[in-house]
Amino acid sequence: TPTIGVLALQGDVREHLVALAAADAVARPVRRPEELAEVDGLVIPGGESTTMSKLAVAFGMLQPLRERVRAGMPVYGTCAGMIMLADKILDGREDQETLGGIDMIVRRNAFGRQNESFEASIEMDGIEGGPVEGVFIRAPWVESTGARTEVLATYDGHTVAVRQANVLATSFHPELTGDHRVHGLFVEMVRAAQS
Ligand code: GLN
Repeated sequence: TPTIGVLALQGDVREHLVALAAADAVARPVRRPEELAEVDGLVIPGGESTTMSKLAVAFGMLQPLRERVRAGMPVYGTCAGMIMLADKILDGREDQETLGGIDMIVRRNAFGRQNESFEASIEMDGIEGGPVEGVFIRAPWVESTGARTEVLATYDGHTVAVRQANVLATSFHPELTGDHRVHGLFVEMVRAAQS
């Protein structure tokens, strides 16, 4: 059974811990480099990416996180977590840092200009048994992707789920729906990386 951490600097950590446990992983919060070293994979939750970025710097986590992602640790980011995994962001704060990991440009609060938050049915590659309920809360979208990035889902013409090798990201929040299929996909990615 893989041990999967949830980055617990800020955001909806508890919901991800519950979803991971339901998807057959051992789940634990990660705040410090020593805790990061002990997990096989990591979820970066939804929340506020500017705050998460600041706290990652303050907790000495920015470099350790970047190193583990670069070394191939499986990572899944939802919403603010997706922003953290983008190589480049638009409408970010001046000093906002990301970890990178996916060759994509992500626009913060992209849907927010039309809709603060909404739900939509999303067909996602790699998820069987019908669409997932996409909960979007001041959500980003993926503005463009590089050649190695796989687009897994779109909504209204905008990319909202992507994968690149060991890194998965969604604009929406499966951890808020009680449907654990996306977490299941991530747990399988972690298992595959272990074997
Ligand atoms: N708008 C937030 C940000 O820029 C993300 C919102 C979310 O995670 N639900 O970080």
